[in-house]
Amino acid sequence: MTHDLHRTARLHRPGLCRDCLWMTDDLTDNRCPACASPRLVSHPELWDLTLAHLDCDAFYASVEKRDRPELAEQPVIVGGGVRGVVTTCCYIARTYGVRSAMPMFKALKACPEAVVISPDFSKYRRESRRIMGLVAELSPLVQPLSLDEAWIDLAGTERLNGGPGAFQMARLQRRIQTEIGLSVSVGLGPNKTLAKISSDLDKPRGFAVIGAREAKGFLAGRPVTLLPGVGPAFARTLERDGVRRIGDLSSVGAKVLTQRYGAFGLRLAELAEGRDLRTVDPHEARKGISAETTFNTDIRDLQSLKDELWRMSERAAGQARARGVAGRVATLKLKTADFQIITRRRTLPGPIQTATLLFQTTCDILTREADGRAFRLIGAGLSDLVETSAEATDLFTSDESRARVREGTMDRIRARFGAAAVTTGRNLKPRN
Ligand SMILES: [Mg+2]
Repeated sequence: MTHDLHRTARLHRPGLCRDCLWMTDDLTDNRCPACASPRLVSHPELWDLTLAHLDCDAFYASVEKRDRPELAEQPVIVGGGVRGVVTTCCYIARTYGVRSAMPMFKALKACPEAVVISPDFSKYRRESRRIMGLVAELSPLVQPLSLDEAWIDLAGTERLNGGPGAFQMARLQRRIQTEIGLSVSVGLGPNKTLAKISSDLDKPRGFAVIGAREAKGFLAGRPVTLLPGVGPAFARTLERDGVRRIGDLSSVGAKVLTQRYGAFGLRLAELAEGRDLRTVDPHEARKGISAETTFNTDIRDLQSLKDELWRMSERAAGQARARGVAGRVATLKLKTADFQIITRRRTLPGPIQTATLLFQTTCDILTREADGRAFRLIGAGLSDLVETSAEATDLFTSDESRARVREGTMDRIRARFGAAAVTTGRNLKPRN
């Protein structure tokens, strides 16, 4: 018994050296006794946490700096092009106030000496594949969120990979630096949301840990915008309702949050407690989102098919926005009266998550398919999904960006006043 107590006390100081990977259950120094590095990480739950989030630091800019060492000490902005915005900027540029998604003229006003490089996405995709290749050596449960981010579930890999998750991630971080020449930040947490939040705490070259026991307290004082799905506009809605910090969500409680904001309110209540039951799903991006409906009586008329298609586009796009994803491929599905299934896909110029663009694309295909035949089912879908973080706004074409603003506003009104509160002009049209 005394032995157990002793062991428990010791286990409260697990520590790891991020340079030489030395490990201890009883960290006492602030330098590594093996290599004298000050880059130690210590946390009571360090050996227990198996969910990691990996995020490259200023990815595109870091790739460019690696390939052009003369730029190492200069502010570098990757961006420009048609939309004229900052795609990524290096940490030196950030000290001048340059930020992602900022219009280029504004960025150059803040930092006139910045070196502007137009993005080379095929190069970034190649580097991404190299990084994800190293990640895949650790676990089959890897879920990429974008080219430079992934969740990794390391549960049960300790013996195979020679150490606990924290050790594996520190070693991976070191490998990516030495073999690929890029710096990444690591977050460890009890679930996806907390792992992602923690990878952002210590950037660049960070290694941060949020434990299950401290999660609620850690979140309580932070702004609600830290939570996935809470953008600036929804944060204003919350603020009007007296909620600014995550702890305020706990005070309001799940019941009221659900009444006010529907399913998303319930999710916010869970997140505020530090709970998130989503699992790491390597196939999530490929699965896609769709909505379909079978008619009571077969439909031949193009206008009626269009009306149904609009409803399905709204439903599928609404799901995509709620999940925080957008699709690069739009799909129209039809079933003829004699049960023949027709599926038509179209790859888009950029990812979309709005009914407007999904409908535009699928309707275009529908117009060619609806030749007077009778149909019994219609569906619209999105696949080849990407996560849409607030930072990723440059992913969207300008048409999609405009539609996102419009439809995002409708989501919030619906969440607040119920689904019937907003109908678009299309839905108000008399049906024939
Ligand atoms: Mg990143």
